[in-house]
Amino acid sequence: MTKPVRVRFAPSPTGALHIGGIRTALYNYLLARQKGGTMILRIEDTDQNRFVPGAEEFILESLQWAGIQIDEGQGVGGPHAPYRQSERKHLYKKYVDQLITSANAYYAFDSEAEIEAMRDRLKAEGNDNQQYGVHSRMSMKNSLSLNESETKQLMESGTSYVIRAKVISGQEVVVNDLIRGTVTVWSDTLDDKVLMKSDGMPTYHLANVVDDYLMQISHVIRGEEWLPSAPLHVLLYHYLGWQNEMPQFAHLPLLLKPDGNGKLSKRDADKMGFPIFPLTWKDHHTNEVAIGYKEAGYLPEALVNFLAFLGWNPGTEQEIFAMDELIDSFSLERIGKAGAKFDIQKAQWFNQQYIRAKANEDLANYLLDSLSKEKITCSQELAAKICGLLKDRVTFPQDFWLQSRFFFIAPTSYDEQVTSKKWNQEAVTVLGHYKDQLKQLTMLTAELAKSTLEKVTTELTVSTGKILQPLRVALTGGASGPDLMASMEILGKEEITKRIERALKTIPIK
Ligand code: GLU
Repeated sequence: MTKPVRVRFAPSPTGALHIGGIRTALYNYLLARQKGGTMILRIEDTDQNRFVPGAEEFILESLQWAGIQIDEGQGVGGPHAPYRQSERKHLYKKYVDQLITSANAYYAFDSEAEIEAMRDRLKAEGNDNQQYGVHSRMSMKNSLSLNESETKQLMESGTSYVIRAKVISGQEVVVNDLIRGTVTVWSDTLDDKVLMKSDGMPTYHLANVVDDYLMQISHVIRGEEWLPSAPLHVLLYHYLGWQNEMPQFAHLPLLLKPDGNGKLSKRDADKMGFPIFPLTWKDHHTNEVAIGYKEAGYLPEALVNFLAFLGWNPGTEQEIFAMDELIDSFSLERIGKAGAKFDIQKAQWFNQQYIRAKANEDLANYLLDSLSKEKITCSQELAAKICGLLKDRVTFPQDFWLQSRFFFIAPTSYDEQVTSKKWNQEAVTVLGHYKDQLKQLTMLTAELAKSTLEKVTTELTVSTGKILQPLRVALTGGASGPDLMASMEILGKEEITKRIERALKTIPIK
């Protein structure tokens, strides 16, 4: 019988969740939904020194915004509660004791300075491997090198100690990875990682393995940066006698800088001017505010679609995938090993596509939001019409306002490039006549604006092409924008004639 699919997203609240974390969560979620499985959220907060206030809430809010639903775990509850590792401290002791009993773990009493001295010594001896492990453990202060009574005495006298994994020597450790195939590591290259710290708190390695086992996790889907930890995890499953319950591993490819040169970092994103966090985050030390994808105007469905493609591809030409389609099409087999270049232009492209696909009536709300901040009133119908005109030109919801400002506020300055080149006597004459003709009309439509302009230019034997730019600058102040005739229909006759008159008075003729 195949195991029910139970996957977990297991972030550590040591800072704001990075966009890469959302991708990891997404891939877990897609698999869970496709297989009718369970998506679990576990908070791995065993490293209390690195705890950052607000980071856990940020994780929950970010997942919710991205549309990644948690079935079981922190914030939701479930049969394996609590889901915050710091609250599960009591559970881990039993397993570390079991490892001590089976001689797969040992007590170590070394101070930081003693460990440092060991490293220096091995380095001086020209030894490449300066880890606390197979080559050094017997020269250190631990329950393997000391005899039973010495160990007992140290423990009874209250000397602080940690518990380390005793990594077996001279063996191949095999990690079967669904993305990378068989990864084999020589056990002597691994170190005797600390499993339990001196305050009785488990480390990531112990808590992670114990919880994956207890929570009956079927697939561990996580970033490539955890691949080096996987051999130790495999050993721990064996040491604890859980080798038959071991989850399947899938280590996701790294997210690379846009040029493909190294891992994407916050610094790169800052430098290139794009967000790295899903939501805006204020650093509680520096008070520095980093704008998130949400606040920058990315739609969650566009971001999800973009992230899905950072490592996975459907094997077809299709690029636009709603969450449901991703759920249907996703497969771990179609995730590549190679790092995925983070191309923000592609994210913007997805955003554009999702905006374009929306009905004008829905887009109107973006514009109405901005307008209400500006204390400008506008009907839903007019806002929808403006959005319809602009929707192929915008990347972000806020662009509707930025690009439609001229509809609501008459220009007070005029694009220099256009006025210096195109605002000549000929243009001024045509615009004067055009304005007079427009005044005669009872109502203005885009077609009428166009045919009237053509009539005037024909009469004055000027090409229409020469007038369009001066007309645009007079009406909008800018050199480019949405379809001019359609914009005129929206602006209306009164406003247009007023604006042309003002421009004729204000702009000096070249
Ligand atoms: N707590 C680890 C992290 O912060 C999770 C690694 C894993 O999924 O095993 O990413």
